[in-house]
Amino acid sequence: MEASTPDLITAVIGFRQWRVCGEELWSFRATERWQRGVHSAHCTDAHDAPAHGCSCGIYAWYSPAPRGASALTPDLVAGAVALWGQIELHAHGMRAQHAMVVALALPFSRGAKRRRIQAAADALDVPAVPARRLNAAALAHGDVIPRAMRPPDTTPNKRAAPGEPAPARLYAVADGYRERQARRRHR
Ligand SMILES: [Zn+2]
Repeated sequence: MEASTPDLITAVIGFRQWRVCGEELWSFRATERWQRGVHSAHCTDAHDAPAHGCSCGIYAWYSPAPRGASALTPDLVAGAVALWGQIELHAHGMRAQHAMVVALALPFSRGAKRRRIQAAADALDVPAVPARRLNAAALAHGDVIPRAMRPPDTTPNKRAAPGEPAPARLYAVADGYRERQARRRHR
């Protein structure tokens, strides 16, 4: 790590989308179920995840997806995660070693999807909040990565075919988040 690396002593907040299947939360590609508690990254290449130059790690964006982005499908749900451990920063998001869901966003519509998201949030023991309040709910659990720490987006034309991957930096975030959560629950 570079000497200039700031200390990140709280959890880092990131934003994701999942699929709600029944009352269960699954990853976007429906390959992994997210349950209550800590979700840790693993790599099939048998190294610690995330690793530089690999695609492993738990993905999250720096900011919430546009409101309504999840509304178009019957099963997409937006939410926020607390991230810690090793975190690799990219232009628009991160890949982290550990994550916990901290809040899910409720859709505008009332109906089956909203009820399933509420049930999934209850099972995870996290709040389900209106989308406009997702950011505030998440910030109770940590901080977003400051803009100055994010690698620049080197893609001149976003519509061009992907070229070299964005430069990324690896940071370590103190592993105290889980302990603080446990203490908070037992208070
Ligand atoms: Zn890997």
